[in-house]
Amino acid sequence: MDLYGALLRRVLYPTWESGVRRRPTLARLRRLHELERASRDQLEAFQRAELAALLRHAYANVPYYRRLFDQAGARPEDIRGREELARLPVLTRQAARDSAAERASTALPLPTIKKTTGGTTGEPLVIRYDAGSETWRQAVRLRGFGWTGWRIGDPSLHYWGEYTRQRSAAIVMKERVDRALKREHYIDCTPRGDDHKEAVIAAIRRIRPRAIFCYAQAGAELARHINRTGARSWGTIPVVCGAERVFPADRAALEQAFGPAVFETYGCRETMLIASECGEHDGLHIQMENLLVEVVGPDGAPAAAGTVGQVLLTDLHNLGQPFIRYANGDLAIAMDPDARCRCGRAHPRLASVEGRQTETLHDRDGRPVDGMVFNLAFSPLAEAVRQFQAVQHRDGSITVKVVPASGGQLPQAAIDHVATSCARYLPGVPVQFEAVADIPATGTGKRRVVVVET
Ligand SMILES: [Zn+2]
Repeated sequence: MDLYGALLRRVLYPTWESGVRRRPTLARLRRLHELERASRDQLEAFQRAELAALLRHAYANVPYYRRLFDQAGARPEDIRGREELARLPVLTRQAARDSAAERASTALPLPTIKKTTGGTTGEPLVIRYDAGSETWRQAVRLRGFGWTGWRIGDPSLHYWGEYTRQRSAAIVMKERVDRALKREHYIDCTPRGDDHKEAVIAAIRRIRPRAIFCYAQAGAELARHINRTGARSWGTIPVVCGAERVFPADRAALEQAFGPAVFETYGCRETMLIASECGEHDGLHIQMENLLVEVVGPDGAPAAAGTVGQVLLTDLHNLGQPFIRYANGDLAIAMDPDARCRCGRAHPRLASVEGRQTETLHDRDGRPVDGMVFNLAFSPLAEAVRQFQAVQHRDGSITVKVVPASGGQLPQAAIDHVATSCARYLPGVPVQFEAVADIPATGTGKRRVVVVET
């Protein structure tokens, strides 16, 4: 019997969240658990009501959307669902940058929370949202992760990249205490050498996590190392993969190393968890109570089930700085909406999310280093940098191409910030910076953050 886990789950966390912080996260989680067993019609009715409230708020209080409604000759009440939503234009990443101030709500709730993302396309972005949206995000996250069997209070290992933003000692300390109380153990997955993997294995044996949260590629590499060395000495540990796609070979390696409970999740910094696998492992259920997800073809019409389309996200609860039909740069394949999952949940599913992969770099000694190192390093530089791309040449040296936000030169502080990350993770690798006017997309329309010349 895990007494501390039960205490954390039943007493400490509810007291903190509902009593001290007075946040409705747990009430939202209860609502989400109720809706989990609702019919598709009930879910869609819930989503339509949330959408209507968002659009009314955006029209009344958000200058950017007031203007778009007027240009479209539409009023909020004209848009009752996803079909009519197409009357509003797509919010591209570029438009999201340019409209940031005009998209802020002028009435409560204000966008008091600020985050940055390097994005999967090498175009950093500052995101703002309100405190109510944060509680929905947390509730959706807790529900989605709960599908793995993990519960609040269970020890967990988080094997992913650390954001390299400068933080005060007080904030770092607060974060450490918070993580320790919640039994969340963090290990940076950026270094990929065998010695590092051995340290992770030792941590797994020590912590005995009830779930491992990892970047898909980092987790798969760790799994291959475990399988190669015969290091597995544990039963099934659920593995929750994020940030990158889980390819079939990766899943097989993860299942061999940790057991069959391998869950792919899809999220982004802009909205947090978008879709996640249930125990049937047959597609990713869309978290439709918090997000309206469209997958559209090149003509803007819904992509047929089974075909690749662009992901458009409408965050139903970010009233502070609405994101409506936001193209986050990802491509996905939707499953037939009428085909129901064996788990009984009526939430529609994505078959896969395409193109979420970063290439692996190598340090001076040939050790692999996660390409996400650049997403993380550039994330806090969203105000200075419009686009970036790192190219590792055949001689090992790296050219970092950067499109400065204001045109002209890249600020020295930004160069220093990225150079510090490179020195830490890619020691001995010559890195040069090059300011460019544009970074063209690849044939698939996807910008690559890391290019490894072969
Ligand atoms: Zn399911």
